[in-house]
Amino acid sequence: MRKKIVAGNWKMNLTLAQGEQLINDILQAGLKLEEGQEVVVATPFPYLLKAKSLLKNYPGFYVAAQNCYSEKSGAYTGEVSAEMLQSIGVDYVILGHSERREYFQESNAMLAKKIDQVLANGLKPIFCCGEPLAIRQAETQNDYVAKQLEESLYHLTVEQLKNVVIAYEPIWAIGTGLTASSAQAQDMHAFIRSQIANKFGREAALHTSILYGGSAKPGNAGELFGCADVDGGLIGGASLVAADFVAIIQKLS
Ligand code: PEP
Repeated sequence: MRKKIVAGNWKMNLTLAQGEQLINDILQAGLKLEEGQEVVVATPFPYLLKAKSLLKNYPGFYVAAQNCYSEKSGAYTGEVSAEMLQSIGVDYVILGHSERREYFQESNAMLAKKIDQVLANGLKPIFCCGEPLAIRQAETQNDYVAKQLEESLYHLTVEQLKNVVIAYEPIWAIGTGLTASSAQAQDMHAFIRSQIANKFGREAALHTSILYGGSAKPGNAGELFGCADVDGGLIGGASLVAADFVAIIQKLS
């Protein structure tokens, strides 16, 4: 009923040749995706076209950008628009990753505009949310995440929300080796789903895929993906190693 997705976020890693090799190694594993399962590869901008062509004969495999700009077009030197991404066949766009929020000062309001651009161009945002360590220690993570959802997603219609994937990524677990326990992940995912249900209705909430991100690996992905409200993962470090990424994808079923 809702899609189960494993998305690999390469961040600013790999040369074109290394990226090509990684995709070919993943494809070599001969994964058989079940109905409703998707694999997404989020490469740096310069590799998107190549990634798309390598994956074009593989149903269930999609390409994501890691960002786009909040305006339609114009004098924004160095930026990439959602329309440009659409024009080269990109499927998804990761928005609001904590690294973008921290290093590039992306606010919830700016992310709302980016989401509008992505949806207006027929692409699907993977909207990242999640709390820093101090917020988790203060046990106010639900309020923190609720605000992120409210300020970036609540202006959407139910129809628009159908194309949004949410990724819960506790910042204290990203690239740190610390993973949220399956109970912590499930609690937050259920909370996010309940917030979506309150705003957009139960039906919409039941159809929204909510991915977990934060030091997911072959060794913990099975338990995380086994949680009722965890619909897959957004994978950083482990997505750069074909065998690990494949092993994580295999935990979907
Ligand atoms: C990420 O950056 O989205 C992420 C989850 O990274 P890692 O898997 O390396 O923690």
